Amino acid sequence: MTNTIFAERKDQVHRKGEEPFQMTCDKESLAGAVSQRACVFCGSRVVLYPITDALHLVHGPIGCAVYTWDIRGALSSGPELHRHSYSTDLQESDVIFGGEDKLYRALIQLIERINPKAAFVYSTCIVGIIGDDLNGVCKKVEREKGIPVIPVESEGFKGNKRAGYNAACRAMFQLVGTGPIDDISPLSVNILGDFNLAGEIWIVRDYFERMGINVVANITGDGRVDDLRRAHGAALNLVQCSGSTIDLAKMMQDEYQIPFLRVSYFGVEDMADSLYKVADFFKDLEPAIMENTKELVRDELSKLYPKLKQYRKALEGKKAAIYVGGAFKAFSLVKAFRHLGMTVELVGSQTGTEEDYKELHEITDPGTIIVDDSNPLELSSFLQEKDVDIFVGGVKERPIAYKLGVGFCDHNHERKEALEGFVGMLNFAKEVYSTVTSPVWRFTPRQQALSSKPQEMDVLNERKAIEN
Ligand code: SF4
Repeated sequence: MTNTIFAERKDQVHRKGEEPFQMTCDKESLAGAVSQRACVFCGSRVVLYPITDALHLVHGPIGCAVYTWDIRGALSSGPELHRHSYSTDLQESDVIFGGEDKLYRALIQLIERINPKAAFVYSTCIVGIIGDDLNGVCKKVEREKGIPVIPVESEGFKGNKRAGYNAACRAMFQLVGTGPIDDISPLSVNILGDFNLAGEIWIVRDYFERMGINVVANITGDGRVDDLRRAHGAALNLVQCSGSTIDLAKMMQDEYQIPFLRVSYFGVEDMADSLYKVADFFKDLEPAIMENTKELVRDELSKLYPKLKQYRKALEGKKAAIYVGGAFKAFSLVKAFRHLGMTVELVGSQTGTEEDYKELHEITDPGTIIVDDSNPLELSSFLQEKDVDIFVGGVKERPIAYKLGVGFCDHNHERKEALEGFVGMLNFAKEVYSTVTSPVWRFTPRQQALSSKPQEMDVLNERKAIEN
C-alpha cells in the first residue's frame, strides 16, 4: 500500500512505532497530487464567512464565488447576509482593462441595497495577476459610505490554506479596537475559532454563562461586526481552531495585552478541561467560579455517561480513521473514539503544524498512520489497509469513504448536528453508532466477504434495543 505515496511526500507520512518521530508539514502541496486542501482565498472565506452582518464580496471570476457559496453551515441568531455569495464576476474584458470600476460600482450598489455593518472584499488569483488596486477602491468606498470596507489579501495562488487564515485574521484585526468597551465585565472572554456549524456556540456560551462569564464576541461563529469592534475589551481569548484564528489572538495579545488559551469543545475530557482552564484563569477575581464549574461538569456528565455506555457496548473494538482540516479537532476525536472503545488507525490534517503532529504522535497508539496534507489516493489506500469501520472528515472525504463501503461522519463545514459540548459527545456517539452498524454496509463487497446471516441479525437486534 505504501507505494501510493509520492516520493516527494514520504516525509509527510509517519507510522507510529516504526522509526523516531519526524514529520515535514506546513509546506506547499505537491503539484499534481490533488491535495484535499483548498486555496488561500477559500481559507480566508471560511474564516470570515460567519460574520453574519457583513457584506462578503468576491472580486474575481464567478467560479471562485460559486466554489465557496454558503461554504460553512454557520448558523446565525440574527442577520444572514453571509449566506449570499456576491461576486464582481470578472470577464475577459475586465482582465484586459482592469476590474476596479466594476468593483467600485458593485460595492456602492450592494452597500446601498443591503445596508451591511462592514464589507469584506476578497482578492482572487486573477486579481493578483492583473494587479487591481483593491486597497484604493476600498478606501474610496469607505469614505463615501461611512462603513469599514476591508480588503482581504487572499489571492488563491499565494500560498496554502493557512495563508488564507492569516489574511482573514489581518482583516478582522482592522475592526478590533474600534468600538466602546466601558460596560464589559472583568470576567469576559472572546470565543475564537468556533464556526457555529450546528449551533455549538450557543451550547458553549450557555456553559460560560452558567459559570458567570460574559462572552464579548464570537469570532467567528454567529459573528457580528460590532462585537468584533469591542473584542479588545475582553479579559481573555479562547482559541479553539488555532490554525484559523491563532494569528488574531497573537495580534490582540501584542496590541492589547489580552492573553489567550487554547481550548477544545469536542469530547468529554477536552470540554471539561477547557471549562476548568477558564475557571482557573478567573479564580482570583471570582473565587466561586471553580465550584460553579465543577457542579456544571458533574451535572452534565451524570446525564451523559449512562447513555454513552450503551453506544460503547456496541462499538467496542471498531476501527476509525480521521482526516480533518485543523489538527485541534483530530486531538479531541482521538480521545472521543477512546471513550467509545474504538481505536484510531489513521489520523491526519490539511494544515497541521510540527507542534500539532508531535501532540498527535504522543496521544495515538503504536501503528497509527499520521499524515499531513494528504490526497485521495493515499487516503483510500490507508483506509483499505487498516480496514476501518468509519472515516471522519469533510465534504471531500465523504465520497472516498462511501466508495470503499466505509461508514462516514461529517466533522466539517456541512454538518447539521452539534458535536460540541457534552451533548455533542452524545450526538457524536449516536452518529458513529448509526453509521458503523448500518445494515447498508452488508451490500458492499468489503462487508459481503466478512458478514454472515446470524451476525447481521445480531446487529439489527442490538440496534433495535438501543434505539428503544
Ligand atoms: S482564488 Fe484562484 S485557486 Fe482559489 S478558487 Fe479562485 S481561481 Fe481557484
